[in-house]
Parts: sequence; structure tokens; C-alpha cells
Amino acid sequence: MAHSEPLRIVDVYPDLLGTYGDGGNAKILAARLRWRGIPALVVPAPSGEALPRGAAFYCLGGGEDGPQVAAAAALRAEGVLAAEVEAGAVVFAVCAGFQIVGTSFPTSDGGEVPGVGLLAVRTHRHAGRRAVGEVVAVREGLGRLTGFENHAGRTDLEPDVAPLATVEVGIGNGDAARSEGAVAGRVVGTYLHGPVLARNPELADWLLGLRLGALAPLQDAELSALHEERLAAAGRAGRLR
Ligand code: GLN
Repeated sequence: MAHSEPLRIVDVYPDLLGTYGDGGNAKILAARLRWRGIPALVVPAPSGEALPRGAAFYCLGGGEDGPQVAAAAALRAEGVLAAEVEAGAVVFAVCAGFQIVGTSFPTSDGGEVPGVGLLAVRTHRHAGRRAVGEVVAVREGLGRLTGFENHAGRTDLEPDVAPLATVEVGIGNGDAARSEGAVAGRVVGTYLHGPVLARNPELADWLLGLRLGALAPLQDAELSALHEERLAAAGRAGRLR
């Protein structure tokens, strides 16, 4: 298939949701497309400007509580994400981003604010310790995913939303089912930082496939080595947590 116009991958509000380096996810998606000969472009979309329309992927990262509230309010006011998902875009949202695309999440002063409502998940404040550390979570077909979590919130999934994976090491959503993240159609949320798509090439390609269909596999020994190294580190950390 010939691709003349580059596929655009929007890094949503890096000034608000860039705290954890999750902007790397947009770069990974673009790189994996280019390595296959498909032109792709990362488009940084700062808050305060109109969110670009017509992109193939929208990536949201983690952030601190205040910027997270501001990002959710701006995205709700604009309404672009829901329209773009309807038009075929994929949304990939990490941690604060995951909570934002849900129905509601807590504020640091004990309140609760509405999310964008793309995923039927609700986040509440957890009284116990913050979830911090290495995570291993398994998804059938993708194997063991590795990432780093750092969040106070715990997220409940409505019955019509599927978890992204099941936690082996770490907390993830923090529910009794040991679920991690959520998926509904082309909207995917996770608690895993890393950036998670650098650590998990299979997850990156699965996301690309949600928009483009199955892609030819890529071989990259360095990325596979990183994946294995992080799984081993999580195993060691898991025994200590
Ligand atoms: N503020 C959210 C929480 O603590 C998200 C944190 C993050 O993005 N790492 O639950």
C-alpha cells in the first residue's frame, strides 16, 4: 500500500502530560512505521492550542495531579478525541492519561472531576501506599509486558471494558482481578510508564495494527534484549515489594 501523506501521531499536551517521559511512545510508533517504509510524523500538541484533527494516533502521558485536571478540562471542552476515535483514530493513554480518558478521577483535595469518557473506567483515591515500582503484566498474544508504575489512584473497570493485561508483579489497576489497563475498541489505557512502547515492541505493533491491520514483523535484537532485561529486573523487584 502506498502512503503519500505521513501518518500523524499526536503527542497530546506534552507541557502537562510529559512528566514521565511518555512522549517516547509517540516516537516509538513513528519509528516502527518508518522502519517499515510507512511515512510517519510526531506532532506535539501543546495545551492552549487546538488539538490537531485527522491524526492516526493520539498519545497521552502521565502527569501530576494539577496538570492532569487542567488537561482533562481542556480535552472535555474541545471534544476532539471522541470525534477522532469515531473517525478511526487510536488513543493510547498512560497513567494520568488513562485516568483522563475514563469517566472520572480524584483530585488531590479529595474531590472528583469528570474525564473524557472514552473508557468506562472510574478512578478513586487509594488510602494506602502509592503504587510505585516495576510491573509485569500478561496479555494473551503479546506475552509479558513490562513497565514502571507510579500512581495513587486505583481504577475500576465497568463490565463492558476489557483489561489490557493481568498483573503478575506490581499493582496495575489495583482491583481484585489484578487487572492492568483497559481496552475498548481503539482506545487503550495503561498504568505502565517506560516509555512502555520502547520496552514492549509487541504492544507497539499491536497498537499500530488497531489502525493499520497486521504489519510485517520487525527484528530488533537490542529492543528484545531491553525487554528481557526489564522482565528480569521486575522479577527481582517483585520479590522485594
Ligand atoms: N495523578 C495520578 C495518580 O497519582 C497519575 C500519576 C501519573 O500519571 N503517574 O494516580
